Amino acid sequence: MPTNRPDNPDSDYDLIIIGGGCSGLSLAAALCRLAVQPEHVPRTLIVEPRSRYTNDRSWCFWAQADHNNQARQESYGSEAVDTAADLIAKSWPSWEFSAESESHRHTSGEGWHYHYVPSIRFYEQVEEQLAQNPKITLLKSARVSEVKPVEDCLELVLESGSDVTESASRVVTAGQIVDTRIPDQIDIGSSMLKQVFFGLEVRLETPHRMEDVAQVMKDMRVDNEGFMFDYVLPLDRHTLLVEFTRFAAKSLPAESLRPDALESLRRMCGDASFQIVREECGVIPMGLSGSAVSTDPRWIYTGLGAGAARPSTGYAFKRIQRWAEICAEGILKEGKAQGFPPDRALLMWMDKVFLRTIASNPALAPQLFMSLASKVSADRLLRFLTDRPGMQDLLAVMLALPKLPLIRCAFAEIYAGIVTANRSHTWHEVR
Ligand SMILES: Cc1cc2nc3c(=O)[nH]c(=O)nc-3n(C[C@H](O)[C@H](O)[C@H](O)COP(=O)(O)OP(=O)(O)OC[C@H]3O[C@@H](n4cnc5c(N)ncnc54)[C@H](O)[C@@H]3O)c2cc1C
Repeated sequence: MPTNRPDNPDSDYDLIIIGGGCSGLSLAAALCRLAVQPEHVPRTLIVEPRSRYTNDRSWCFWAQADHNNQARQESYGSEAVDTAADLIAKSWPSWEFSAESESHRHTSGEGWHYHYVPSIRFYEQVEEQLAQNPKITLLKSARVSEVKPVEDCLELVLESGSDVTESASRVVTAGQIVDTRIPDQIDIGSSMLKQVFFGLEVRLETPHRMEDVAQVMKDMRVDNEGFMFDYVLPLDRHTLLVEFTRFAAKSLPAESLRPDALESLRRMCGDASFQIVREECGVIPMGLSGSAVSTDPRWIYTGLGAGAARPSTGYAFKRIQRWAEICAEGILKEGKAQGFPPDRALLMWMDKVFLRTIASNPALAPQLFMSLASKVSADRLLRFLTDRPGMQDLLAVMLALPKLPLIRCAFAEIYAGIVTANRSHTWHEVR
């Protein structure tokens, strides 16, 4: 992006990325990767409150694998190289869904694997990449407390990150901003469902006896609070990642699920002794009622608040990588950052109907997921889950699901759409 904006190199930037998490770092890495020369990257500042990165999450996704089991490179109309390929710590050729005594194992006929990236590998690799590019600065231990659009730029107030005791603030300016925070106007609690989970990575004294299969939805079940399941990844013969997960209608702190995760672990490991080596937890919105949009074209939102997570699954990592490639290309070629691309309308509608069905009939959820696993082939289901279904895949998914509750919820969704449209119409009239 050849601009001459910066007057003061310590405070004026072409681009400021708010948040050095998955989206912010993915964009910065894509800028480094796609720029023909490092100096073609615009002067960029990434502001991140953390003082250091930790292994705070496990990113898993499906991708086609080459003969080394590494995720195959993908191209989105560019020379895009799959960032995740060399970060993968483990891949599974099969994955399983189970409820009560029934289980369905899926293996792709088209070479898809389920891949696992420990977040610390990603953070460290991107930090190394950024250290080699003089045009990008990663400022840790700092947070953005205010953004003020002024005539020819955007002013940002920076303060110390939460883990820094002394507080100092300074003002920096940007030609444009990519904001990865979840903005205040987005209420995660209002999303149709919240995927709330708590995970324990444990080292077992004696090897476990589990097969080398990713248990993506194990023991699907229902209680008074709704639908839940375990997510189990055998990382090696002695190491398991066990996450207890709920699709909750009400807001729920993720930490409150720790005892459930321990119980799931105990059920799986019996009396075997283990040591907890790491914990992770989170809340992912499923079916946000709106997504973050800024009124200033120089300030775009991205990440979870802007629709990064697929509503029906909560998977976001690969979608963020795809967006980062597109956004970096836009910045390098046209000098303009781009927000999250909208999903295909039919896919989004199906996701909403699916979520509405689960939200209003949690007891049906195990049956819905087991029907999909048993009636839709692995490759069709994968194309659906990874955002690229053809019409036949969509049809196969629809036909696999029980009709009556879905039809009811489809009508409810149409009604909700009409009410929302009428509301926004009235709002414009009042203005
Ligand atoms: C434990 C966990 C496991 C997950 N596992 C998977 C998975 O297996 N597969 C998958 O597809 N998705 C997964 N996800 C979902 C999704 O991929 C991640 O949440 C991902 O990190 C979202 O990226 P993001 O950039 O939107 O948010 P983040 O990565 O959280 O980045 C936002 C950044 O903004 C920073 N920030 C906040 N406030 C400020 C401020 N005022 N100023 C500056 N910076 C600020 C934060 O410190 C943070 O670094 C998981 C999520 C969690 C929490």
